[in-house]
Amino acid sequence: MKLSGDRMSHLSLEERTESVNCPSHGPREVRNFKLFAEWGKPECDLCEKEKRLAQEQADAVARAAEDKSRQERMIRQAYDRAAIPPRFQGKAFDDFAAGDPQAIAALITCRDYADQFPERLRLGSSIMLCGNTGTGKTHLACAIARSAIETHGKTAVYLTVGRAFRMVKDTYRRESRKSEEEALSFFGKPDLLILDEVGVQYGSDTEKNILFEIVNERYEAMKPTILISNLALSALAEYAGDRVLDRMKENGGKLIVFDWKSYRGAA
Ligand SMILES: [Zn+2]
Repeated sequence: MKLSGDRMSHLSLEERTESVNCPSHGPREVRNFKLFAEWGKPECDLCEKEKRLAQEQADAVARAAEDKSRQERMIRQAYDRAAIPPRFQGKAFDDFAAGDPQAIAALITCRDYADQFPERLRLGSSIMLCGNTGTGKTHLACAIARSAIETHGKTAVYLTVGRAFRMVKDTYRRESRKSEEEALSFFGKPDLLILDEVGVQYGSDTEKNILFEIVNERYEAMKPTILISNLALSALAEYAGDRVLDRMKENGGKLIVFDWKSYRGAA
């Protein structure tokens, strides 16, 4: 409020002590002020204090609710951007069917990785999940991504290598507005990158090279990658080549072989 010069002249505060008889707190001596040439209504100081505290508490509750909803919105956005396939959205470690002892070991390794994600991210430790189809590799990888996003507030992106190859190959066309480097730099951005279906089709030299470039982009940025393949380890090693495998193993990288029998359809 802007006060006119005339009113300003009354602003020199006069103060006096008055008695009030508060229904809650009994008789109190309180300060009262003269404002705009009039004495205010004396109020119980304890009631005023209670009112102020209640208001502060209400404000804090409102702020916390606002923070929570903002955080939930950010998690939802990060989850949308992660592009997890609908089949694996919302997958958690708890609903992983681990009947086989090896499956239990795989579950524990992946859950530990997710629990320690900030440290794994700091070191750039990757994981390779390879072996039989239907053993839950994508399920576990998506559960790691979910934990990275929801528990640790990090970002993750899921995509098949087929899609990753197309994204890079699209830049080879003359009309492409993006350069290969720009396409590759996309893969270096998320805190966690999941590349699924490695080796699903016969890989041309160009594709093998793109796979290396993506893994290398992550490696140079010291960011973790999860590679998923239905190939057995020896076939994956041959497909991906030493350059890829070496980078995946660095900085505490882990390999989990899923060679027990499929549980898909067993339920
Ligand atoms: Zn009172």
